[in-house]
Amino acid sequence: MKIHEYQAKEILRKFGVPTPTGKPCFSVSEAVEAAKSLGGSAWVVKAQIHAGGRGKGGGVKVARSLDEVKQFAANILGMTLVTPQTGPKGQVVRRLLIEQGVDIKTEFYAGLVVDRGSRRVCLIASGEGGMNIEDVAAKSPERIHRLLIDPVAGLTVEDAEDMARRIGVSGSAVVEAGALLQGLYRAYDSTDAALVEINPLILAAEDHVFALDAKMNFDDNALFRHPDIAALRDLDEEDPAEIEASKYDLSYVSLDGNIGCLVNGAGLAMATMDIIKLYGGNPANFLDVGGGATAEKVAEAFKLMLRNPELKAILVNIFGGIMKCDVIANGVVAAAREVRLSVPLVVRLEGTNVELGNKILTESGLPIIQAENMAEAAQKAVASASTAAGA
Ligand code: GDP
Ligand code: MN
Repeated sequence: MKIHEYQAKEILRKFGVPTPTGKPCFSVSEAVEAAKSLGGSAWVVKAQIHAGGRGKGGGVKVARSLDEVKQFAANILGMTLVTPQTGPKGQVVRRLLIEQGVDIKTEFYAGLVVDRGSRRVCLIASGEGGMNIEDVAAKSPERIHRLLIDPVAGLTVEDAEDMARRIGVSGSAVVEAGALLQGLYRAYDSTDAALVEINPLILAAEDHVFALDAKMNFDDNALFRHPDIAALRDLDEEDPAEIEASKYDLSYVSLDGNIGCLVNGAGLAMATMDIIKLYGGNPANFLDVGGGATAEKVAEAFKLMLRNPELKAILVNIFGGIMKCDVIANGVVAAAREVRLSVPLVVRLEGTNVELGNKILTESGLPIIQAENMAEAAQKAVASASTAAGA
């Protein structure tokens, strides 16, 4: 799960990570009031969306007067911000963060992720802050420093300060930067985070260090241990189809192809997408209806796929193990009738009661295209989608 920058900063502050003072706002008047109450002579107006690269897209502006705060807030609120991380459709800005402006002396980068190979949390830091870390990694990998953290000892003060020196922090700032990195690690560890990224981490006036930007992602499987973090979820930032799917306990991921896939089991769903690609098609989604799919679940799955205007065909690929093929066939027929299916439907069943299942499909009177194996099913789905797309 992702959260907004202002929410991440609130969490980080609890772990002793210094950030500029700021307030989240939902309207222009709130933004001006926030700037007034923060005081000072410069403020930063920051779009809050679940994607980075906002600065380059015009979503981060430094204001030198309350009038400018008002003007920037009015421009940014409601804009569709397109950044390299939002995709071409962009994301509508519904929230702002108004922060006290800080003078930047130097920008650094710091992040924490799980390194699966070593089964440890890895601290990644660089003196090349404020820019795309992927570019730094590609062009000058020697400028990125890594440290695998011992889960029992945690990030020690010695290691944290050593990392601060490696990225170019010097003098009295080393102690503050070390403490900041330790705070980051404690926050990461205590909240079951999957990612913490501070870009830029800055050295400001009088050599104080701050997290100027903050990104935190959390491990969904651990959210039950953190109801306070789960409550920060912002559904406006998520794909509506995926939110709908989660209500019915369906694992659904939107993709950009035109063949909808309805499959039981994640492995079979992956294999189904692969074989569609093999025969020259493109899946419109990943969808795992799970082991115990009911007719209602199948109907909801159909509705989800049909929300997509690009959809040109549906491929149902079911292995009847615990779930019997006749039960799923009845579910498919009922769902196709209920939603008045408007695109070609290819169904491949295998496993328990497969003959009975196929008989139900044939006798339904619906124009269901049946297939005996995955290759045939994929070829028929690709052919149906390209005919429909050409029509
Ligand atoms: P991102 O583009 O989504 O990663 O958003 P950031 O929070 O990193 O902001 C983008 C850039 O705006 C930063 O890299 C800074 O250069 C600049 N910026 C953000 N806050 C301040 C500030 O308080 N003062 C100044 N001078 N620049 C800032
Ligand atoms: Mn940033």
